[in-house]
Amino acid sequence: MDKSLYKNIFVFIEQRENVIQPVALELLGKATELATVLQEKVIAVFPGHQIASQAQMLIEYGADEVICVDAPELKDYMTEPYAQAIDQVINKYKPSIMLFGATTIGRDLAPRLSARLETGLTADCTKLEISEERELLMTRPAFGGNLMATIICSEHRPQMSTVRPGVMQRIERTSGRKGDIISFQPKFDGAKCKVRLIENVKKQKTKIDITEAKILISGGRGVGNQDGFDQLQKLADTLHAEVSASRAVVDAGVVPHDRQVGQTGKTVRPDLYIAAGISGAIQHLAGMEESDYIIAINKDKFAPIFNTSDLGIVGDVNKIVPILTERLSQELANR
Ligand SMILES: Cc1cc2nc3c(=O)[nH]c(=O)nc-3n(C[C@H](O)[C@H](O)[C@H](O)COP(=O)(O)OP(=O)(O)OC[C@H]3O[C@@H](n4cnc5c(N)ncnc54)[C@H](O)[C@@H]3O)c2cc1C
Repeated sequence: MDKSLYKNIFVFIEQRENVIQPVALELLGKATELATVLQEKVIAVFPGHQIASQAQMLIEYGADEVICVDAPELKDYMTEPYAQAIDQVINKYKPSIMLFGATTIGRDLAPRLSARLETGLTADCTKLEISEERELLMTRPAFGGNLMATIICSEHRPQMSTVRPGVMQRIERTSGRKGDIISFQPKFDGAKCKVRLIENVKKQKTKIDITEAKILISGGRGVGNQDGFDQLQKLADTLHAEVSASRAVVDAGVVPHDRQVGQTGKTVRPDLYIAAGISGAIQHLAGMEESDYIIAINKDKFAPIFNTSDLGIVGDVNKIVPILTERLSQELANR
């Protein structure tokens, strides 16, 4: 393979119902950083239907070019049409790096493409850098999160990676930034599209996704049962926050999996993260250590969570949380 034929960093722009997903902007931010080192361009690959009006926004968030892959077949995500379309884009433009969000869609599409393109894929990366040899260094937790593995894809191109939502940071939007918007018309082999989308049935959402919450009150085994979590919910209501959890309580069935923070849960980066009765296992830290301000409440003053906290409270969470809730309610009512 002649690697010199491949250049530029491509970012898969995921949209759902024509709404660009936050992870796409986070990846553009990271790609901008990598492109500065490589002296290459950031190119957004934007599939969907009637999406062109949003392309300028991608330029304002760091893309130098946007390839709009507009077709009715790409309105809603379906594995085969998307794989066919993005495969054609990659074969035509030959990117050196291609990044995807590690969302349900990215996790479905990226492996399919890497197999078609006969290249490697590193899933669930938490860090991306460029080596002195201009290779992409893709770092992800390995062996149950006990060590970080840095993987390179030196023999094949493009170098492909999925990155979890919330791990990278978007750059500040620059209104009016200039860039090229290109239209790409894919050809579809209908015979290979065996699946038909009949209807989109949305799961009723009553709560805000924990990755979007500004304040998270997270409970662990130390909070114990449902009564303990009801107390956390009261504190969350007072602070207009959301409740999340460690895997221990998710596995115990006290909290649903979509509220789990950590390596096998979600990566969060709130302004404030309160870890109540959580020990601070490495797999939990992997999902929350980038939070702006961390408060830990734990009865064990040697609990590892205190090493990652900005403020530590040593004591019984079941006594401290009701007191905190009451004091904060009074404080907020007096404002
Ligand atoms: C491959 C793999 C993936 C994993 N992924 C995740 C993941 O995504 N997220 C995750 O969270 N974990 C994950 N884990 C599990 C992780 O290793 C820990 O087992 C888990 O995080 C522990 O949860 P915990 O802190 O709630 O419980 P524990 O480790 O049991 O800690 C409970 C803490 O509560 C304190 N405590 C007890 N009672 C009180 C009280 N009354 N007041 C105050 N403090 C009290 C204790 O001192 C202790 O520190 C994963 C593990 C593996 C192997």
